[in-house]
Amino acid sequence: MDRAELAESAARHAAPPAGAVRRLAAAALKSWSELLSLVVPVECAACLAPDTPLCAPCARSLRRATAAPRRVEEHAPSLMTYDGEPLLHAVAAGCYRGELAHAVLAFKRHGTPALAAELASALARSLKAAVGSGVPRAGFQARGGLWIVPVPTSTAAFVRRGFDPLGLLVARLSREGRLPGGTARAPVLRRRRQRIHELLSSAVSAAAEWTGAGHGAGQKSLRRGQRRGRVAGSFEVRGSRARRSLAGRRIVVVDDVLTTGATLREATRALEDAGAVVLGAAVICFVPVPEHQHAEDSQSADTE
Ligand SMILES: [Zn+2]
Repeated sequence: MDRAELAESAARHAAPPAGAVRRLAAAALKSWSELLSLVVPVECAACLAPDTPLCAPCARSLRRATAAPRRVEEHAPSLMTYDGEPLLHAVAAGCYRGELAHAVLAFKRHGTPALAAELASALARSLKAAVGSGVPRAGFQARGGLWIVPVPTSTAAFVRRGFDPLGLLVARLSREGRLPGGTARAPVLRRRRQRIHELLSSAVSAAAEWTGAGHGAGQKSLRRGQRRGRVAGSFEVRGSRARRSLAGRRIVVVDDVLTTGATLREATRALEDAGAVVLGAAVICFVPVPEHQHAEDSQSADTE
């Protein structure tokens, strides 16, 4: 990621009075991960081949796995009614497994630029399918003025990692002119401010992870009910100007990994409260229903 992205990412998470503390913590963690990258050898995120963040065969597999985006809301219980009707349409570029899963996890942990390039392309394919006619019965078409709204990372995750992985990917697509025609990036959502004890406990678990004492208790290790409780009311529109601009605005929400759909539903609720019309969602990958429990129990997974 470059300096401008970092500055923007940091600025979006800064909120007085704890803003300075957060920026400092983010900067410290970033320096720490840069230092680590000097002493830890680079290896393929998927197959551990040396000297490359993603080897050519794994990159080809990743592209194949994300070449044909599809509708996936039926895999996300929070996006369906009890009668099996979709509450929100969602399109994914691929399935959360193999090279794609490894690449997503590694990118979220380290922000590796080589992985960002591949994942941004996968997200671009998902967005194109969601907005255009690439997916049968996609149900939502761009007729100009469509906003692409990324789901913001939590402040705790931002402090832990020093960057906002999804925000970087969407900003990259926007900067490179690779968002679908008639759409624009609109990072109008933010997480509600977390209390200082939540930030501290996040810092403690990050430290425990480094020393090997952590349990890796990320979002995916939470049971569905816990997760719904955790995300309820967690998003808000960024400021009154953004709120006014949302009235009647047509929107596609974007996230990286779709599991239960609780996060997308909550983001949608915050946007609809401001009068926006959420047409659907686009994600990089989805966790298929039979694998939910396995994925949520996975100690290493952290898709928050
Ligand atoms: Zn590889």
